[in-house]
Amino acid sequence: MESYREPMSPRCRRVVIVGGGMAGTRLAQQLAAHAVGVGAVGVGAGSVEVTIIGEEPHPAYNRVLLAEVLAGRYAPEIIALPAPAAGVRRLSGVQVVRIDRATAEVVCDDGRRVPYDALVLATGSNPVLPPLRGLFEPDGQDLPDGVHAFRTMDDCLALGAAVRPGARAVVIGGGLLGVSAARALAQRGAQVVLAQQSEHLMERQLDPGASGVLRRHMAALGVEVHTECRVRGLRTRATDAGRFVKAVELADGYALEADLVVLACGVRPRVGLARAAGVEVARGIVIDDELRTSDPRVFAIGDCAEHAGVVYGLAGAAQEQADVLAGLLSPTPPLPEPMGLRPLDPHGDSAPDPALGNRFVGNRSAEGAPPSGSWGRNGWAQTGHRAAPGNETPPRDTDAAPRYHGTRTLTRLTLTSASGPLDLAAFGNPTPAPGDDVIHLADATRNTYRKVVVRGDRLLGGILLGDLGTVGALARTWESDEPLPATPLLHLLTNDGGS
Ligand SMILES: Cc1cc2nc3c(=O)[nH]c(=O)nc-3n(C[C@H](O)[C@H](O)[C@H](O)COP(=O)(O)OP(=O)(O)OC[C@H]3O[C@@H](n4cnc5c(N)ncnc54)[C@H](O)[C@@H]3O)c2cc1C
Repeated sequence: MESYREPMSPRCRRVVIVGGGMAGTRLAQQLAAHAVGVGAVGVGAGSVEVTIIGEEPHPAYNRVLLAEVLAGRYAPEIIALPAPAAGVRRLSGVQVVRIDRATAEVVCDDGRRVPYDALVLATGSNPVLPPLRGLFEPDGQDLPDGVHAFRTMDDCLALGAAVRPGARAVVIGGGLLGVSAARALAQRGAQVVLAQQSEHLMERQLDPGASGVLRRHMAALGVEVHTECRVRGLRTRATDAGRFVKAVELADGYALEADLVVLACGVRPRVGLARAAGVEVARGIVIDDELRTSDPRVFAIGDCAEHAGVVYGLAGAAQEQADVLAGLLSPTPPLPEPMGLRPLDPHGDSAPDPALGNRFVGNRSAEGAPPSGSWGRNGWAQTGHRAAPGNETPPRDTDAAPRYHGTRTLTRLTLTSASGPLDLAAFGNPTPAPGDDVIHLADATRNTYRKVVVRGDRLLGGILLGDLGTVGALARTWESDEPLPATPLLHLLTNDGGS
């Protein structure tokens, strides 16, 4: 059994990151960027030695752009994230199977034990596999051939290899993921049916009107959308070569013939490691404003983390959490624009065409998030610093240390098609309460839909579809949560504020 121990300065802090996805990679990059001020990562007094352990065998990639790979628009290497700086140790294709908190080591599936001073869990999410009849073989764990989740590069490559022009594909789930997958499969020439259980598409982001515009666009792409459509099970056929899907059974008894089925039924935070180690878990791994779990040496960021009761499941929140934690774990402040790093906007980092694909921006405090340091639980300090048992807690040298107060998310998606792209941006809560102001412009001819909801002098939420001319000004106002200017509210949808 290999134990990873290397000679180190006594003041060198060993940061081990579990999960080489978007949050873990961003943290490693940012720690490296901070460490530029003190030499290479892992060298020199006061520096950090970073090890990132990821079970996926691929170089880190921008998950948000997987649909573009599936659509055949980008090769997988195009969506690669910038490689971690020299000095960051990356273990790929290695799964962490246990956290040994007593010895402060993680145990890997190859038997290796990696010691840490600070451990960061960035384990992401698992796709939700719905309880469908026929999904799993009686005693097995394997999905039938032709049935795919859509979370990883391997999922994407397997789906890409299976799809053929004319293939009958059923996508189960009409959220952002299902809509993206359906569009990509249609672009590959498949005959796609999108089965959505609720009343409209992308219900987390859109209201019924905007969803109607999206539905018309999907229809123009050749995607048949069924809403209020509950899937009950899968029909399969067994052959010598395996068990293959042949149809999707609906609750009303109707069956949709299928060569391919994509499960896009949501995600669940990956919390198994934390839970088994006795770290507090609610829906996600519970963290405070310092991204710290109930164990002061263990942190969590990204999709697996739950902050102030919120599991974001979004790239922008993962990025923001990684950036705050890098500030907390680093001995020095970052250099400005270090090593060409920019935010994890997929098109900023790796994609060649800034006009395409899913994009995400978001920052600043979420509505309802408690003020810094006020969220005390389980004996945690109320001032922002946790009361650590003993002196093992990775220390923070300054009282001006960064804090995470939640993320204000703005979701963007571009659905490309032969007839032109449909741009979409949504933020906050687009459902008005009595007394809220609603500004709404819809143009059926141009297939545009714009709506913002205002409460008092603040933006509560909004949706832009087809015309994103005002998105820059709206995004700035939303992210900063500043009072709206004293201009007529209509200007929010007609005046781009110079953006
Ligand atoms: C197709 C698709 C489209 C999306 N579109 C958008 C979008 O438009 N906007 C948006 O904001 N978000 C979007 N998301 C969500 C976004 O990708 C996630 O929020 C983001 O990836 C979260 O980053 P993360 O690092 O927390 O998790 P991940 O990126 O999932 O990374 C977690 C990593 O940890 C690894 N891991 C887990 N457990 C272990 C272990 N025990 N040992 C070793 N490694 C482990 C996993 O294999 C994985 O590589 C999309 C997601 C998908 C799949």
